[in-house]
Amino acid sequence: MTDAASSTGAEDAGPEPAASPGDEREDISPEPATSSADELEDAGPEPVTSSADERETTPSEPADASPGPGGAPAGSPDPSPESAVVAEPSDAFQALGHEVRMEILEAMLERVDGEGQDRASFSELFEASSPETSAGFAYHLDELVGPYLRKTDDGYAFTYAGEKIARAVAAGAYTRRASSPSIGIDDPCPFCGADGLRAAAADNVVSIGCGDCERTLLRMGFPPTGFEAHSDRLPEAFDRHHRHRISLLRDGVCPECAGAVDGRLDDPTAAVADDLPEELDDHVQAAFDCRECGYDLWCPVTLAVLEHPDVVAFYRDHDREVRDRPIWNVGREWTETVLTREPAAVRVAVELDAEILELYVDGAASVVGSRRVDAE
Ligand SMILES: [Zn+2]
Ligand SMILES: [Zn+2]
Repeated sequence: MTDAASSTGAEDAGPEPAASPGDEREDISPEPATSSADELEDAGPEPVTSSADERETTPSEPADASPGPGGAPAGSPDPSPESAVVAEPSDAFQALGHEVRMEILEAMLERVDGEGQDRASFSELFEASSPETSAGFAYHLDELVGPYLRKTDDGYAFTYAGEKIARAVAAGAYTRRASSPSIGIDDPCPFCGADGLRAAAADNVVSIGCGDCERTLLRMGFPPTGFEAHSDRLPEAFDRHHRHRISLLRDGVCPECAGAVDGRLDDPTAAVADDLPEELDDHVQAAFDCRECGYDLWCPVTLAVLEHPDVVAFYRDHDREVRDRPIWNVGREWTETVLTREPAAVRVAVELDAEILELYVDGAASVVGSRRVDAE
């Protein structure tokens, strides 16, 4: 079936994101493909997305992992990298537990940004510290060396963990909570067609929902800095941020930790299923799980293929850009059809100017084939 939008449900933190159903109510668009039985579901107009849960968790371990021992020669068949745990998380975070140490990391970040500078001297860091905290400065600086800073002949440099922590703090990930009044979005609701879509933020999580049918289409975390930086264009920034995260997941790389991601086609979560129109009761979604950090996300299958090269090329050949379609309403030209359930397979089709692009998605949520056909 097709699906279209999604809704999420999960409102809370649950691990589950949202999902979306689609609606179909009028399917306006001629339906592309078809397979018999399934067709009845047509397309829904637009999918939407889902979310993930995002609570920003603390990094699991700041320790940096060193790449393996001396590199393997090119062509070596088994260059497996190694990583080692160099500190317990509690010890690593304890090293940050003083105002002076956080000031030092902030001062480092200012020094290393721009102009290729990647070192700061003791005196530069000391001068950047506030007078009332300069007592004990050398001791605190020393406590950061190892997990967060490296001491070199040319001064201090960030370790990978030090830079990650400093940037996360600068972004307010651990210290700021962003909320905003809801703002209207120009696109129509994929479920009911009303012009009532609104985006609102609470506790760093952005929700896009319909004021008319009251469905939540999407719900995902967004870094606090993003709210301030894009206040008047928040929906667009949110769209860009998440469509690329979904693309990364589809490509097997976790957007949180770069770990390996497993994809699958699965039933929507209960919350999402409740929001789906009846015609979509056999709707399936793309689900992605990171093997390393546990990050997971469910979304309509359409969103999982949105940035696929064949889709990008198809839109271009019709003088359009798929990136102009927001993830909460990709347009009524999209339809999804469940071809089989065991193993799961879905055909996602998009029609432009009487030409249809069909993408075949397997049980691992991967595109295994595509073809273009003329619309009847
Ligand atoms: Zn609606
Ligand atoms: Zn991960």
